[in-house]
Amino acid sequence: MPVFVEIAVNVSHVSGVFHYHLPPELEGRVGAGHLVEAPFGRQQVQGVVLRPVSTPEVAETKVVSRLIDPIPVLTPAQIELARLLADSTLSHLSQLIDLMLPPGLGQQADSLYSIQEIEPAVGRSGLTDLQERLLSLIEQRGPLRGRQIDQALPRVDWRPSARRLVKLGWLSDQPVLRAPSVRPKRVRTARICADAQAVEASLPRLGKEGSQATARRQAMLRFLLREGGPVDVAWVYAESGGSLADLHKLAELGLVELGEEEAWRDPLEAVDFQPSTPPDLTADQLICLDAVQAGMLQAVPGNVPAPYLLHGVTGSGKTEIYLRATESTLQLGRQAIILVPEIALTPQTVRRFLSRFPGRVGLVHSGLSPGERYDTWRRARAGELDLVVGPRSALFTPLPKVGLIVLDECHDSSYYQSDPPFYHAQEAAAIYAQLTGAACIFGSATPEITQTYQVRQGGWQYLHLPERIMAHRQAVQAQAEKLGLASRYRELEGQADVIDLPPVEVVDMRQELRAGNRSIFSRSLSQSLDDVLSHGQQAILFLNRRGTSTYVFCRDCGYAVKCPRCDLPLTFHSPQELLTCHHCGYKRKMPEKCPECGGTRIRQFGTGTETVEAAVQAQYPNARTLRWDAEATRKKGAHDEILSTFSAHRADVLIGTQMLAKGLDLPLVTLVGVVLADVGLGLPDYTAAERTFQVLTQVAGRAGRSPLGGKVVLQTFQPEHYVIRAAAGHSYDEFYRQELNYRRMLGYPPFTRLVRLEYRHMNADKAEAQAQRLAEQVRTWIKEGQRSSTELIGPAPCFFARVGGYYRWQIVVRGPDPASLFRGKTLGDWRVEVNPMSLL
Ligand code: ADP
Ligand code: ZN
Repeated sequence: MPVFVEIAVNVSHVSGVFHYHLPPELEGRVGAGHLVEAPFGRQQVQGVVLRPVSTPEVAETKVVSRLIDPIPVLTPAQIELARLLADSTLSHLSQLIDLMLPPGLGQQADSLYSIQEIEPAVGRSGLTDLQERLLSLIEQRGPLRGRQIDQALPRVDWRPSARRLVKLGWLSDQPVLRAPSVRPKRVRTARICADAQAVEASLPRLGKEGSQATARRQAMLRFLLREGGPVDVAWVYAESGGSLADLHKLAELGLVELGEEEAWRDPLEAVDFQPSTPPDLTADQLICLDAVQAGMLQAVPGNVPAPYLLHGVTGSGKTEIYLRATESTLQLGRQAIILVPEIALTPQTVRRFLSRFPGRVGLVHSGLSPGERYDTWRRARAGELDLVVGPRSALFTPLPKVGLIVLDECHDSSYYQSDPPFYHAQEAAAIYAQLTGAACIFGSATPEITQTYQVRQGGWQYLHLPERIMAHRQAVQAQAEKLGLASRYRELEGQADVIDLPPVEVVDMRQELRAGNRSIFSRSLSQSLDDVLSHGQQAILFLNRRGTSTYVFCRDCGYAVKCPRCDLPLTFHSPQELLTCHHCGYKRKMPEKCPECGGTRIRQFGTGTETVEAAVQAQYPNARTLRWDAEATRKKGAHDEILSTFSAHRADVLIGTQMLAKGLDLPLVTLVGVVLADVGLGLPDYTAAERTFQVLTQVAGRAGRSPLGGKVVLQTFQPEHYVIRAAAGHSYDEFYRQELNYRRMLGYPPFTRLVRLEYRHMNADKAEAQAQRLAEQVRTWIKEGQRSSTELIGPAPCFFARVGGYYRWQIVVRGPDPASLFRGKTLGDWRVEVNPMSLL
C-alpha cells in the first residue's frame, strides 16, 4: 500500500490540489511542507506537500519524482495561513504558497549525477551518442551537478538523456540544494586620520606644485576634514574630481584611512539622535507596553489577544514600544516580525532595530539579490534569526516560533498587494498571529477609518500616545547648544521632553489670484522660504504628483493630449520635452499643432516637481535644490543618495512627492510647504479623502522636529474642505468623525464590504460585453442567494479606463459579505479583489 500525499502544484492558473503517491525511497522522508517535484500533465512541476492522505480522490495517482529540499520549506502554521488567506481573498492556494517561498528557490535546486553501481538494464552499445557523451563525462570527472554539466556541454539539451540514463540504471541523480555564496555587500569609505595642522603641513608634499593632482588631493583633504567621519568614496570623488589613486597617495602619506562598510547604511545616521541605551519609558508608554506584554504572556496558538492599534503622532514614541515589545518576545524565546512600508524610505526605524539587536536581525529589502534573500530565509528557518525587518513580504519568513508581529505605519497602502494574489498584510498578520500565538501591534499616526472602527466596535485594543516626544532630553540639549538656541521642548517626566506639533497656516490660493499673485508660491510661502534660507535652515516642498504638469491642452479648443493606449492625460517632462503616460510608459514629443483644431497654442498646464524646482531656482538663485520623486529615484540607491545629500545640508530645499510622507526625522527642516493640498481630493474613489488627509498629516509632521521649531504652509483652493481643516488642525478625531458619517451615508466600508471584479481586454467591445455578461450572472447569484442587502454597482469602465493597451471594466459588489457569493465559482480571467484598496 503506497503512501499518498496532497500536493499544491506550482503552475499558474491551476487552482486545485492533487493527490500523488510516494516512491518507496521517499516514504518516511516526505511530509507536510516539503518541496517536491512531480509530473503534472506533460511537464515536471514543483509543488508543496500539504498533508498525507489515507485514500486518494483519484483511482490512479502519479508518483512524486523527487524531494527538492530535505527540510520542509513551509511550517504547519504557514500552510494553514495560506489556506485561510486563499479562502478569504478568493485566490488560489498555490498562489499564496508561492508568495511564501523565496524567489528562485526552484532555480536553486540542482541534482548531483553519479555512476550507478547496479547492473544497467541496457548495455552500453544501446545508448545514443549524447547518452554516451554524458556517461563518459561523469566517468572522467566524477559526480557532477546539473550546473557543471551545463558548463561542460554548453547549449546541449542533455537533461532528457540524463533522465533516460537514470531510468536505465546507468546514472543516479540526487537532489541537492545549493547554498548561495553570500557575502554582505560593502562600500569603500575614506576617513581623515590627521588633524588640521598636520594636513596643513602636508599640503606641499601632495604632488608637484600647482599641478592638477595636487589640487585634487587638497580638495579631498579639505572635504574629508569637514566631514570628520568615514565617507563613501563616491562622495569624495564627486567633491574633488579625484580617484582611488589619489586616495591611495593620501593614505601612503598617513593622512587618510581607507575602510569598508556594509552597503546598507542609514543615510540619515548622522542627523537624528538616538540614545544608545533604551530610555526610561514615559508613563503613557508604560501603559502601552504593559498591555502588550500582558497579551504576549496570555497568547497561545488559537487563542490570542485582539490586535493592538497603537495610535500616536510621529515622534510620540511608538518605535520605542516596538523595540521593547521585541525585547520581551525574545526573552520568551520567540521571534518577532517587524513590517515597515519600505526600507529605503524608513531607514531610521530600521537602524534602531539593527543597533538595538545587533547581529540578530534579518533585513528584507528590494536591493537584495535572490541569493541574499534565500540566505535570510534559510537562516530564519534554521532559527538563526531573532527578528526580521522588511516590507509586507517579510511576514512570510519561516520563523519557527513567532511571538510578535508589528505593522509600522499600518495605514500605508504598500501593505496591500495590488496584483494577484491580492491580499492585505494586516489581515494576513492577524490570521498568522492567531495560528502562531503571537501578539500583533498595528501602529500609525493616521490609522485607516476601518482600523479605528475596529477599535470602536470593540474588536481591537486601543493604545494611545498623545504627546510628541521627539527626542531624548540629552540629545535635545546637545543639539540646542550646537545651534546656539534655547529649547522649545517642554519637560516631561524621565528623560523625555515633548514638543508641540508645528502650527499649520492655510493659504487660500483664490485670494492670491485675486490679489494678482500668479506665482505657484503664495506671498506667505515666499516669505517663509525667505526666512528659512536666510537663516541657513532647510525647507521641504511637497507636491502630490509628478511631472512638470499634468494636462497638456490646447488653449484654443481645450483638447487634452492623452495616451493612445490608456486614454489618460499625458504628463510633460521638461528636460527631454517629452510627454509620458504614467500608466503604460508611452512617450511622445510635444505636438507642435493641436491634433484637434490645428491651433498652435498647445502647451502644458499645472504644476509638477520640476516646475516647483524651477520656480525656487528662479526666485532664490542661491538656494540649492534637490528633487525626490519617482523620476529622480529610478536609479538604484537613489533614495539613499538624496536623503544623505539633504541631511548633510548639501541642499536647502527638498521638493518631493509622496515619498516625503514616511517617517523621516530631519532636524534642520523648519518649513514644510504643501504646494497644492487639494490634489488627490478630486479622484473618483471613496478613499480619496482619507488618502489625502493621511498624506497631508504625515508631510506636516516633517516640520519642527528640533529645537529650531518650525511651521507648515498649506496652499489650497478649498480652505473650508473638512480634509484640509482637519489636517491643518492636526485633528485625527475630527477627520474620523466626518469621514465616518460620509461613509455611512454612502454605504461604504466599514459599513459594507466590497468585492471588485475587473476585466481587461485589448478589444473595447469584448471587454464591455464580458462585463455585461458577468454582471447579469452576478445579479442572478444575488437573487438566488436571496441577498436583498447585496447590490451590484456597474458594470462601468474603470477610472483608469485603459492600461497598457487593455480596456478595463469593473463591477463592484457591495453588501455584508459579498465574497461568499463567489466562493466555489469559477470566474475565468476576471481579477477578483476582496476589500480592495481603491476603486480607480
Ligand atoms: P515614533 O515611532 O512614534 O515616531 P519614536 O519611538 O521614534 O516615535 O520616538 C521619537 C523620539 O523620542 C526618538 O528619538 C526616541 O529615541 C525618543 N524617545 C522615545 N521614547 C522616549 C523616552 N521614553 N525617553 C526619552 N526619549 C524617548
Ligand atoms: Zn486645439
